[in-house]
Amino acid sequence: MQNSDDKPGVPLRSATSNEEAQGAIDALLHEERVFRPLPETLSRANISPHQLAEAREQADRDSLAYWEEAAEELEWFAKWDSVLDDSNAPFYRWFPGAQCNIVHNALDRHIETANKNKLALIWEGEPGDSRTFTYYELYRHVNKFANALRSLGISRGDRVIVYMPPLPETIIAMLAVAKIGAAHSLVFAGFSAKALRDRINDSQAKCVITADGFYRNGRVVHLKSTVDEALAGVCETCAESMVVVHRANVETDMQEGRDYWYEDLVRQARPYAETEVMDASDPLFLLHTSGATGKPKGIVHGHGGYMVGVHRTFSWVFDIKPTDLFWCTADPGWITGHSYGVYGPLLNGATTVLYEGHPLYPQADRVWSTVERYGVTILYTVPTLIRMLMRFGDEYPRMRDLSTLRLLGSVGEPINPEAWVWFHKVIGKGDCPLLDTWWQTETGMFMISPLPVSLLKPGSVTKPLPGVEVDVYDENGHPVPPGKGGLLVVTKPWPSMMIDVYNDPERYKETYWSKFPGVYLAGDVARKDEDGYIWIQGRADDVLVIAGHRIGTAELESALASHKAVAEAAVIGIPDAIKGEVAKAFVLLNQDWEPSHQLTKELKEHIRRELGPVAVVKTIAYPDSLPKTRSGKIVRRILKAQELGQDVGDTSTLEH
Ligand code: ATP
Ligand code: MG
Repeated sequence: MQNSDDKPGVPLRSATSNEEAQGAIDALLHEERVFRPLPETLSRANISPHQLAEAREQADRDSLAYWEEAAEELEWFAKWDSVLDDSNAPFYRWFPGAQCNIVHNALDRHIETANKNKLALIWEGEPGDSRTFTYYELYRHVNKFANALRSLGISRGDRVIVYMPPLPETIIAMLAVAKIGAAHSLVFAGFSAKALRDRINDSQAKCVITADGFYRNGRVVHLKSTVDEALAGVCETCAESMVVVHRANVETDMQEGRDYWYEDLVRQARPYAETEVMDASDPLFLLHTSGATGKPKGIVHGHGGYMVGVHRTFSWVFDIKPTDLFWCTADPGWITGHSYGVYGPLLNGATTVLYEGHPLYPQADRVWSTVERYGVTILYTVPTLIRMLMRFGDEYPRMRDLSTLRLLGSVGEPINPEAWVWFHKVIGKGDCPLLDTWWQTETGMFMISPLPVSLLKPGSVTKPLPGVEVDVYDENGHPVPPGKGGLLVVTKPWPSMMIDVYNDPERYKETYWSKFPGVYLAGDVARKDEDGYIWIQGRADDVLVIAGHRIGTAELESALASHKAVAEAAVIGIPDAIKGEVAKAFVLLNQDWEPSHQLTKELKEHIRRELGPVAVVKTIAYPDSLPKTRSGKIVRRILKAQELGQDVGDTSTLEH
């Protein structure tokens, strides 16, 4: 096909053409592979295709009844007056009148059941040390620490910052804070003193829980000293106390009257603490988004609706059985760690695995050796890690027994079909369904995701879960036809939706609910195919407009990554006098490949073959790394700002 768009002098439609006014995104990728569930998967699944279809039908008829039934599976101190109060929309309140505490369901109630002596948590430190906790043991630790926090004057309604690496005490701290009715706010242990200070001030936190240090990539990272630095400039009423967990035995200055060793506090604490009775919409935590698209937003979640949504989606999507060993590689300081590393597994009485350190330490088989060592059955991870591990080839996974795996999961970014297929084939041996789950800090729970019995298409997040209604709109709020891309929206409230942006209700309304009244704007672009399958095309902020064509980043990047030389790619648009914008790609190469003119030419041709004439990549750069958030997401706005010599904006959440 002739590529007229690439010829100088050919009149081109401008960025204000019809398509843009319509807000439709061009669909470029034609991924046609499908994976049907195997007979063993179908016969073993908790939810059959028929039950899934019935649940969808029921939820389409009456989503409130669907979620009410889900709520009945949990224990409440008092039931709700109604399922949803929408009288003050968009400040929706789920289960008004109900009283509960998520910790009662995640921990307390298991002590009365056969789960009491089951493993709740297997933790492994980077040096190879390991600790395990039964539900009863975890319960005792949480009770003691809850009492310790109360003795420091922390109570219902307060905020507590948890600035911790992945340690058992991180989970204990989250649960203890929630148990006494305070709200936790986790901050990645890699964030700077300034980022920490901002979050302490933002949340007016009364207490900071931290560790002396931790192990990362073979080194000891000092943590307490960073907190000291952060506290030097916090507001007067903030951070009156600090609790420090012994982890790395590094030299630590303790300030009399402010700093307490965790071990000293719990040694003296009584082993039983009353669980605070909370209203369903009382805050459980606040958590900042990853900052991929700008200044992070402080998202607030409550006890009741959040626990209903997370409990149901975890058990359905991961098809949880009593014998499962679930490993979510995300740090607890990210929403994935909250909902599916901690609360989802514990609400379901499952066993969860937590790993402290770097995934490539001491060598590139750490993930696989961990799966082998504990017999992990479900591995939930992120595309960036999959792509990183893929760069090392098949040798490392082949060295390990991965036969215990039965399900794989992905979250956080669009997973390019090549990485999908590698993960499915090499790690899952072709018989573990790969569940690509779309959701956000704001949504609290999985929104669009397959179940193990679903037909899978690599690169598609498939369909919304029962009780969730999504659509793809053009700029004017009209659903776009199948095949065309547009803005991803959620058209009905869902139980674990955010309660607010912390201390900023205006930003909540403005960011999510103002573009289309009554409809939640996710901030991503997506398309539906003829089967109703959803393909995430990237961030709305990152859309390119090349010669009048609006193009999401994911398809260009997936096409690049489907070339054998490419490990990972990021694409941005840069202004161009003729075309409005042109694409520039930043490419990380696989081992054994070197940048060259020939390769650049080949990659450009490869993209054109894969995506057609619209997808012209003008320049390709080969940096050593891509700017990423701490949670591993590519931050295209940084590449763009650097390219254009502009201010790079908020970088507090970036990897260094
Ligand atoms: P910020 O809002 O500060 O820019 P963020 O959006 O990265 O940060 P999160 O809430 O952690 O913060 O991430 C949610 C986003 O991650 C989604 O909006 C989407 O862009 C992306 N995402 C999550 N899961 C998937 C998935 N399965 N496929 C594609 N993209 C995904
Ligand atoms: Mg976001």
